[in-house]
Amino acid sequence: MFDLTKIVRKNILNLKPYSSARDEFSGKDGVFLDANENPYGKLNRYPDPYQKDLKKKLSHLKSVKPENIFIGNGSDEVIDLCYRIFCAPGKDKALTFSPTYGMYEVSANINEVDLINLPLNNSFQINLEALENVLINESIKLIFVCSPNNPTGNAINNIDIVLDKFKGIVVVDEAYIDFSDTNSFIEKINKYPNLIVAQTFSKAWGLASARVGVAYANEKIISILNKVKSPYNVSMLNQKAAINVLDNSSEYKNQKEIILKQKKVIKKALASIFIVKKIYPSDANFILVEVEDANKVYNELVSKRLITRNRNSLVNNCIRITIGKPTENKKLIKALKEINL
Ligand SMILES: *Cc1c(COP(=O)(O)O)cnc(C)c1O
Repeated sequence: MFDLTKIVRKNILNLKPYSSARDEFSGKDGVFLDANENPYGKLNRYPDPYQKDLKKKLSHLKSVKPENIFIGNGSDEVIDLCYRIFCAPGKDKALTFSPTYGMYEVSANINEVDLINLPLNNSFQINLEALENVLINESIKLIFVCSPNNPTGNAINNIDIVLDKFKGIVVVDEAYIDFSDTNSFIEKINKYPNLIVAQTFSKAWGLASARVGVAYANEKIISILNKVKSPYNVSMLNQKAAINVLDNSSEYKNQKEIILKQKKVIKKALASIFIVKKIYPSDANFILVEVEDANKVYNELVSKRLITRNRNSLVNNCIRITIGKPTENKKLIKALKEINL
C-alpha cells in the first residue's frame, strides 16, 4: 500500500507552516491593519495565498475539487517543491527518462538529489524492463514523466504501469497536453494516491510571461505543497491573467486550432526538404527534426534571425522547432530550403 507519510521527508511532515495575515483572517470586508501594507495604491495588498478564484474556475474546467489543485509560480515551482518535499538532500534518489525536459536535472542538482536518467527506447517510450530493474535495485522516491515529452514531442505510453509498480511519487508533466489527443492523467488523481499531474498556463494558454503552473493531486499531497510554498507565491496580476484567459477560452481554442493546422503544414513542407532526415511524431506544439548537421543548420538559421532550439546534445543532429504564426513558419521553411551544407 502507498503510504504518503513514508514518502514525505520527516522535517516536512512535522513542519508547522508560516501562518500569514491572510491565513489568520481571510474575509474580504474590514479595515485591514494586519499585514503592514501601505494603505494607499492599487497593488498595495497581498494576494490571496490560495488563489481561490482561479482554483474555482479550474475546478469547473477540469472537473476536480479545488482541494485537488495547487497553483505555483510556473510548473517549474512544482518540480522544485517535489524535490524539496520528497527527497532529502544527499540521500534520496529520483528518476526520469532521457531525453527530457532539462529542469528535472537542474532542480535535482540544486536540491542535491541524485537523479537517475533512464534512456527512452528507440520510439522514445519507457523501457519497462529496464525500469523494473532500476526500481528493484535503487531506493527512489520520485519519478518525473513528461508526456507529451519535451524535446521528443510524443506522448508516453504505459504511465499507468509506472504508477502501479512504483511505491513513490510519480509526477506526470503535461505542459503540452492541450495540443494532444491523449487524455490527461488528471482523471486518475483519485485512482492513484501517488500521482501528481503538472500543467501550465505557459504554452497553449499563452501566458508564459505570467508564470502560472498548476498541480493536480489528491488532497493530502496538495496540502503538503501548500505547506511548503512561499506564502504569496502567485502575484495578483498573474492570478488575474490566468482567470482572464480562462474567461476568454474561445480565443485560446482558435489559436490552438491554427497552431495544430500549421503543424501539419510544416510537417508536409519539411518532408520535401533535402537536409531533413527525419520528422518525429509530435503531440505538442513543436516538432523534433533530424537534419544533416544540426549545429550548422541551427547557426545558419540564427544568421537569418530564425531561432530554433538546437537539441543536438540530447538527440543526435536534432533541432526542435516551435510552431509559430503562419508568416513565421513560411520564413523558416524558406530558410531551410535555402541551406546548402
Ligand atoms: C515549458 C515547460 C515547463 C515550464 O512550465 P512553466 O509553467 O513555464 O514553469 C514545464 N515542463 C515542461 C516539459 C516544459 O516544456
